[in-house]
Amino acid sequence: MEIRSSRFVTSMSEYRPPEADLSQIAMCGRSNVGKSSLINCLCGRSKLAKVGAAPGKTRLINLFAINEESRPFYLVDLPGYGFARADKKEIARWGTMMDGYFTACKALRGVVHAVDIRHEPTADDLQMNAYLRSRGIPFIVVANKADKISRGARMKYLAPILRALQVQPWQVIPFSSEDRTGREELLLQLEKMLT
Ligand code: GDP
Repeated sequence: MEIRSSRFVTSMSEYRPPEADLSQIAMCGRSNVGKSSLINCLCGRSKLAKVGAAPGKTRLINLFAINEESRPFYLVDLPGYGFARADKKEIARWGTMMDGYFTACKALRGVVHAVDIRHEPTADDLQMNAYLRSRGIPFIVVANKADKISRGARMKYLAPILRALQVQPWQVIPFSSEDRTGREELLLQLEKMLT
């Protein structure tokens, strides 16, 4: 699959299905894991999704329409989790937003769960993984910021991720928005989810 066009549609604090009943692929992960950069990299755009949004900023569900001319779908950027300074109220609000999305979205085909290749998955990452499993949502893991480690060290870093998230190697894609590592493979996986 190639992404030929991408358009920001809307931001919302509470999910409401968009007017077009298109398939959706959602992105989730810790704040700062590089979700926005990943969306920009996939779409070949530099400023479609806002990179480096200041922590503490209102977290929203962002909807992007992809390939509207032919075989269109929505890419959905879900609010990041794991803010160091998030208070209880904010965490509860995040949970309500996520539950609202996964409950109301009937067109969801799969989720891209981004984690940082350099770190063992955090408790939040494990919880996200368990949540997707409990809802029976197909997902793929992106091990992001792969440019930060050498190619030769990749397997060493991937092993604890595979173990913690209980996934097979084919379910984890080392990815980098900096050098576009993994872009083609992720596009292939998205295509599979959509068909
Ligand atoms: P988000 O909060 O998950 O949307 O993360 P952003 O896309 O805003 O990225 C957070 C920070 O990580 C920014 O400073 C990015 O430049 C940086 N970043 C994102 N992706 C990569 C990557 O693949 N490699 C490297 N080295 N840095 C990245």
